Amino acid sequence: MKMCCPFCGWPDEQPYTTVSVHQTNSGATMWTRCMCGSLQTRVMQGAQAVVTARGKPTNLEVVNQAAA
Ligand SMILES: [Zn+2]
Repeated sequence: MKMCCPFCGWPDEQPYTTVSVHQTNSGATMWTRCMCGSLQTRVMQGAQAVVTARGKPTNLEVVNQAAA
């Protein structure tokens, strides 16, 4: 099953904008920003970056389009 942004429907597997990547003892943490402006925290699990937290969207125009 594919995960996507609950606000605008952008697929999680294609990070819209990568903000930064931090190496940690357990792997890497990645910060990405979605098309709707929602900031996401991703943790690398093997080859996959799993979204563990999402911020609120800032581009409400995109969110409203997705909801329409
Ligand atoms: Zn989004």
